[in-house]
Amino acid sequence: MAQIEFQNLAHSYQTNPTQPKDFALQQIELTWRDGGAYALLGPSGCGKTTLLNIISGLVRPSHGRVLFDGADMTELPTEKRNIAQVFQFPVIYDTMSVFDNLAFPLRNRGVRQLETKKRVEEIAELLELSSDLKIRASGLSADIKQKISLGRGLVRSDVAAILFDEPLTVIDPNLKWQLRSKLKQIHQQLKLTLIYVTHDQIEALTFADSVVVMFDGAIVQVGTPQELFERPAHTFVGYFIGSPGMNLLECTVENNQALIAGQRLPLAPGLAQKATGNSNLMLGIRPEFLGYSPTAQAGALEAIFERLDDLGNYKIATAQLGTTQVKLKLAEDSQIPTGTGWLVFPPERLMLYQDGKALH
Ligand code: ATP
Repeated sequence: MAQIEFQNLAHSYQTNPTQPKDFALQQIELTWRDGGAYALLGPSGCGKTTLLNIISGLVRPSHGRVLFDGADMTELPTEKRNIAQVFQFPVIYDTMSVFDNLAFPLRNRGVRQLETKKRVEEIAELLELSSDLKIRASGLSADIKQKISLGRGLVRSDVAAILFDEPLTVIDPNLKWQLRSKLKQIHQQLKLTLIYVTHDQIEALTFADSVVVMFDGAIVQVGTPQELFERPAHTFVGYFIGSPGMNLLECTVENNQALIAGQRLPLAPGLAQKATGNSNLMLGIRPEFLGYSPTAQAGALEAIFERLDDLGNYKIATAQLGTTQVKLKLAEDSQIPTGTGWLVFPPERLMLYQDGKALH
């Protein structure tokens, strides 16, 4: 397994890119450690597949270099990079048995028979395919075929990295949870460098130690699931991760205070001074951290509470603050009357953003 490094990397599919929007991938300077489990998370079109294809060698980057363990891979074709890939749909040989499918990548590289058998049996056990090894792959369900594809990706221990491109798309929703946890367990056991592309935050957060969030061709944050939740570095991360996403309120700042819809909120000392002027400022707070008070108090803003929805094990309150709708995520036994109330903003949970980026 290898450490993967991007030096000054960027990619445009155009021949003469001149402005940022001509780039499918904005400049990336990043190192992924050997044996790490990474998820590339972002909406459709943000550049995930482009980055994955640059790692595998299917796309040659227009700018910069890709290194595996310090060796420059940028010009090398896919077959020289020693990468395993698992795609959205099963890639297996229908006429072969499950065993032979799993053994194929090893036999192809001349791995000895005994070693092949041992490794195939180990991977089959991890993926709960042991009882299917003798069966021909053709008659199996899409779920099991995709498990075999995962197994074919995982079976070689000598690869630099294993790349997964939305591998659970065809998996039955009930099985997805199980397979995600399985992949995490396999990673802990086999210590492989895994890179997992998905637009599904739950998939990314359960699978990866480190989630790489992409937006509009740029990496906006690399962090643990907890960091992404507690300290989103970009408004996109705040909004994209979490359910509901972070509340974002347009504001201006003045003397350590934020001004929102004509009301004032104290900010952590020094935070307001980090802003350059008063343009494009947003205050961010997660629905989980926002509190309710029936009366006015310091650190609270007056709002109109419109609804309280019971979602089983929690409740969501919706309030109107000026022209912005905000959400509060509350315990299941919470009661909030509709009408005027106060939104309580714990200062340690408040984030201030300028041009989308967090000010610290
Ligand atoms: P999805 O989840 O839909 O696959 P993605 O995050 O993987 O999206 P990419 O497929 O990397 O995003 O696409 C990033 C941008 O590059 C998009 O604007 C896309 O239209 C563009 N793009 C992708 N492949 C090509 C190509 N071969 N030629 C030109 N433009 C491309």
